[in-house]
This record gives sequence, structure tokens and C-alpha cells, in this order.
Amino acid sequence: MTLFEKIIAREIPADIVYEDDLVLAFNDINPQAPVHVLVIPKKPIPRIAEAEPEDHQVLGHLLLKAREIAADLGLHENGFRLVINNGKDGGESVPHLHLHILGGRSMAWPPG
Ligand code: 5GP
Repeated sequence: MTLFEKIIAREIPADIVYEDDLVLAFNDINPQAPVHVLVIPKKPIPRIAEAEPEDHQVLGHLLLKAREIAADLGLHENGFRLVINNGKDGGESVPHLHLHILGGRSMAWPPG
């Protein structure tokens, strides 16, 4: 079981900001911005590179909920960044798909 599956199962505590049948959102333990929330599918898709066509509903839901959570957290006006790290070069460290919502400060580009 991955770390994020343990959070879904409430075996590891997390500061949960949103939950429904398909996704869970919680504050990142090591925030990189004033707002740093992770949105994950409850289905254990390891990473976006391994998502399947049948996952289109959950993936669409993940994005739309990220937009809603960002608005609820006050990021609508100034904007925010959504990030998915994939694999070694992408900087992925937990093998359960997660979307980072980062906001509350101005972001640099390109990313490091
Ligand atoms: P990645 O580097 O895979 O894109 O992102 C993994 C994220 O999970 C990191 O930002 C890291 O801080 C966060 N993280 C790792 N362990 C935990 C944990 O136990 N609880 C929470 N809330 N976040 C975690």
C-alpha cells in the first residue's frame, strides 16, 4: 500500500480539505507555497503515464475539483499553479497520482 493509499484509508493522518467518492485533497506536509494542496484519485493510478482511457472520468473530475478547491482557498483572483510530477526526471516521489495546487505567491518559470 502506498503512503497516499494509507492516507485515504485513514491509517496515516492528513489535513484533509476535500473528499468525495473519487478524490481526496489534503495539505502537503512540506508546503512549497502559502497554499499547497495535493489532490489524488482514490483509485491507485501510480502516475499519469500509467493512466488508461477508462480513467477519463476520474482524471476530468480531478482537474475540475482542483479548480474548485483553488477557488475555495481564495486563489481565483491572483491565480495558481497545477503540477503533476511524473517519474524520475519529473521529480515524482510518491507512486500514487497526485496533482499539486500551489498558490498564494508568484511562481517562477521555468521550474527548476
Ligand atoms: P511528488 O514529489 O511525488 O510530486 O510529491 C509528493 C508530495 O507529497 C511532496 O510534496 C511531499 O511533501 C508530500 N508528502 C510526502 N509525504 C507526505 C505525507 O505523509 N503527508 C502529506 N500530507 N504530504 C506528504
